[in-house]
Amino acid sequence: MRLLDKEFELFVTQQEIESAIARISQEISSDYSDKCPLFVGVLNGCFRFTGEFFKHYNGACEVSFVKMASYQGLTSTGIVETLLDISATIEGRDLIILEDIVDSGSTLQQLVNHFSDKNINSFKIATLFYKPAAYDKEYEVFYKGIELPSEFVVGYGLDYNERGRELNDLYILKSE
Ligand code: 5GP
Ligand code: MG
Repeated sequence: MRLLDKEFELFVTQQEIESAIARISQEISSDYSDKCPLFVGVLNGCFRFTGEFFKHYNGACEVSFVKMASYQGLTSTGIVETLLDISATIEGRDLIILEDIVDSGSTLQQLVNHFSDKNINSFKIATLFYKPAAYDKEYEVFYKGIELPSEFVVGYGLDYNERGRELNDLYILKSE
């Protein structure tokens, strides 16, 4: 499968991805059954994950989004900007961040810093994909869907220079 100048191959099927999402969603539903958490999706990559996540979520909740940017092409720039901030009132709330993927953890660190002085009641991260070998931060990534090697992937919301987000399965960059 080709996107722009790169070749990719199938790595995780939609079915495997969606059963991992169902599992996290049910786990969070039961952990927060007596609360009304505020979910914060991190755009653009989270759009498929969040859509599928709420098919399985049971209970009262609110949903909002933020937009950050850190990737240019294939490697993280390490510079993360907040492009769009959350509109909901977060004071005293139980926040759960919904991330498409945690790689080095820079984006996550930025989110943790961003929300740390806002008097929230609790803060947890749920990520669909996780690269354990690349993650070098202290902060615990609490809910994890599927672990991946430290390689570049596309599909299911994740892009290569804005291409491939619409793909139903996850593809990995072919080594040259
Ligand atoms: P981190 O800040 O943890 O290094 O990277 C987090 C962000 O970089 C993710 O939210 C995602 O947007 C992007 N990212 C990290 N790894 C990949 C990858 O393998 N493929 C794609 N398409 N984006 C990635
Ligand atoms: Mg992202």
